[in-house]
Amino acid sequence: MEPVKTQVYAEVDYDKEGKQQGYLRIPYSRDSSGWGNLFMPITVLKNGKGPTALIVAGNHGDEFEGQVCVMKLARALTAEEIAGRIILMPALNFPAAKAGKRLSPVDGKNMNRSFPGERQGTLTSVIAHYVTHFLFPISDIVLDLHSGGYSMEFIPSALMHKVEDPVQYQKMLGGLLAFNAPIGFIMREIAGEGLLNEEAERMGKVVIGTELAGGGQLSPTAIKIAEVGVRNVLIHYGLLKGEIVTRESQGLPKTRLVESPNREDYLMAPADGIYESFYELGAEIKKGQPIGQVHFLDRIDWEPEEVRAESDGLLVCTRGPGLVERGDCVGVLARDV
Ligand code: ZN
Repeated sequence: MEPVKTQVYAEVDYDKEGKQQGYLRIPYSRDSSGWGNLFMPITVLKNGKGPTALIVAGNHGDEFEGQVCVMKLARALTAEEIAGRIILMPALNFPAAKAGKRLSPVDGKNMNRSFPGERQGTLTSVIAHYVTHFLFPISDIVLDLHSGGYSMEFIPSALMHKVEDPVQYQKMLGGLLAFNAPIGFIMREIAGEGLLNEEAERMGKVVIGTELAGGGQLSPTAIKIAEVGVRNVLIHYGLLKGEIVTRESQGLPKTRLVESPNREDYLMAPADGIYESFYELGAEIKKGQPIGQVHFLDRIDWEPEEVRAESDGLLVCTRGPGLVERGDCVGVLARDV
């Protein structure tokens, strides 16, 4: 089989012992820079034998918690304190992260719908292709740190997919619980195709994600949960020395393991307008109960249209901005596993 080619040039050597901070260079020819490159930060730490963890954030550029967490980790970690290899990328969709937007302003693409990517595709697709063919194959554990971004807010959660392979599932569940987030979310994907985590799961990797709050903000609580959680996961898989910091040791209730297996658990705005949520995150909702309503700016004489829960559950996600369009996700309900 022909070796897979890429346009991406890595300044770092993934097999070299020690700590390297460098860049992935990607040809980015444009009006203002014919022979220009995009420089994407990457940190690689290697110390002897052990598993490889790939930790990415900024898959969506408006999700700041993970980006800050990975940058802090990249500065703090030393090769001496790890066993194996850790690859850190704080801003996977770098142009989107620079712009603070979910999608790339360069090609309008959503990184998390672009996998497995294309070698000769647009910038987002070229990055996804590199991750699929050069980083996933050398990784055992993949951590993909998301949050609600501008459009949604979550109870800070570690999450995983319900993969079919029982061995892979158990390994992922171990890491999910080790994260020690308030919520451990086993989710069904309604987001579409081309996701990073699904691509890595297909390759048999242990894949854990997060939804760390959101609303386009940087909550100190969410950052702390992310920092403790990522280190915990690294300790759990034997990559980092130290003891797992449990929620109990911080005087907090244990991780609540929940799932949202059905389409009905994801509630969408029924119309364009202003969405008024009736509940804060963490509310326990019963099927048939209104969780919010959409107001119609043009028609003060119209009653607002209610959004009713189609299942029982814990409100783990709600809408960020007040303005909604029909089909926007305004709530996710989850039940204890
Ligand atoms: Zn995201």
